[in-house]
Amino acid sequence: MSRAIYPGSFDPVTLGHLDIIKRSAAMFDEVIIGVLNNTLKSPLFSLEERVNMLNEVISDIPNARAVSFDGLLVEFARQNDIKVIVRGLRAVTDFEYELQMAQSNRKIAPEIDTVFLTTNIEYSYLSSSIVKEYASYGVDVSELVPEYVSSALKNKMNIDK
Ligand code: ADP
Repeated sequence: MSRAIYPGSFDPVTLGHLDIIKRSAAMFDEVIIGVLNNTLKSPLFSLEERVNMLNEVISDIPNARAVSFDGLLVEFARQNDIKVIVRGLRAVTDFEYELQMAQSNRKIAPEIDTVFLTTNIEYSYLSSSIVKEYASYGVDVSELVPEYVSSALKNKMNIDK
């Protein structure tokens, strides 16, 4: 069985992330979306909220599920018999960091490979940060995130629907 992990912050999940999730679910038997509990970042949504939002928006993808994880990604992958890490590439600016991560992960866990999916061009400019910034100014983000996330953002920002 091929099992992959798509790790990230997902604060919150966007249509760009969802596109990568759907495409990886078509490539692997099982895709685990790993929400990193990164104590260095102060997220808008709590870890639990991010995992719940993801599970809500992927409920129609039977072979995908979201979980949280702590610590080293490759250790989590090993413990869960995951052999592939999926990452999305939006632009060359993502490349340097992603290459460094992939190579250092491979150094410590040679049995685990990273695969990159290039973004759907429609979402190449899209990031969770942009979504949060727009939402904080009351800009409609319904074309950037799943509907469930758009409502969660409105509640979080205390903006009347
Ligand atoms: P991180 O904090 O690890 O960068 P993110 O939640 O921002 O986590 O992103 C997780 C992964 O999704 C990364 O591989 C990132 O490059 C990818 N990604 C983010 N936004 C998009 C998008 N619009 N299209 C494709 N991939 C994306």
